Amino acid sequence: GHLYNLPFNMNTFRELWDIVTPAQARAIIDEQRKEITGEPRNLEEQAISLVGRDIYEKLIKGYTEKQWGRACTELPAFIIRRLPVRFTFDNNYFNDRYQGIPEGGYNVLIDGLLDDKKLTGSIEVRTGVDYNELRKDAAARKKILGMTEGRTPEVIYTGAIDAYFDYEFGPLAYRGLRFETDRFEEENRQGVAVMNYTARMVPFTRTIEHKHFEFGTQPVTYVTREYPADWQPGEEAYYPVNDAENSTLYAKYAALAKAEPHVHFGGRLAEYKYYDMDDTIRAALDAVQALS
Ligand code: UDP
Repeated sequence: GHLYNLPFNMNTFRELWDIVTPAQARAIIDEQRKEITGEPRNLEEQAISLVGRDIYEKLIKGYTEKQWGRACTELPAFIIRRLPVRFTFDNNYFNDRYQGIPEGGYNVLIDGLLDDKKLTGSIEVRTGVDYNELRKDAAARKKILGMTEGRTPEVIYTGAIDAYFDYEFGPLAYRGLRFETDRFEEENRQGVAVMNYTARMVPFTRTIEHKHFEFGTQPVTYVTREYPADWQPGEEAYYPVNDAENSTLYAKYAALAKAEPHVHFGGRLAEYKYYDMDDTIRAALDAVQALS
């Protein structure tokens, strides 16, 4: 029943502590941060050293533990470092000058990239094909990659890196997600694109009211609940779990990947990295630059 603005900013601090100025907010947070001395060793220590215990307990602990399915003391500190903390009345999620999603969504953007008539004609797309199965069949591989004699094509692989190497060292851990969507016969259900539920006892982490991303004016609305889920090999992998054990395992796969000629591993799954979309696009552009 209580609403707080996210990411953490003066609106959040005012709602929490009924303060008015940045100096008052800073004084409270600085006092609470003192609890952590030295370099934070895990997500809990990182969060407290960033914003203090009040915010950690109310807005971070429950959300993070259901999201990742483990205790904050067993999660790496960097996960929370991406959340901005600012002492201005600014509710924007990112600090970037330009923010948003592509008009019409990412499918429209990707369709545009694939429809490259000027250079190559429309690029063939096959879905529902397991590339890791397919590439073991020499004839199919030759056909699909359009191989010609004496020329090895460059492959960009964005699937899971452990799957590419047949889980040789064992599977990497991921977090899964489950979505439930409802249609409501009203124009505006929650008044915002994303509402987070930070209490541990609420089984979902957030609800997304899609129309607010694009300022939709439809008379009805759709809201999706996002449930974190355990993940089993074969299911859709959403989040890499970058704890110590999995990072060590990933390093072994990354060494194999390095030795794989003409295959370029990129994206959340192939690099086992908790990328945001802007990081992903930056990394893709850098990779292409390095290739050309
Ligand atoms: N987080 C949190 N409380 C929130 C929102 C996020 O504690 O209300 C933490 C949580 O640990 C989460 C991380 O911040 O995993 C990153 O959140 P973000 O929404 O950026 O992640 P996404 O799921 O969109 O990749």
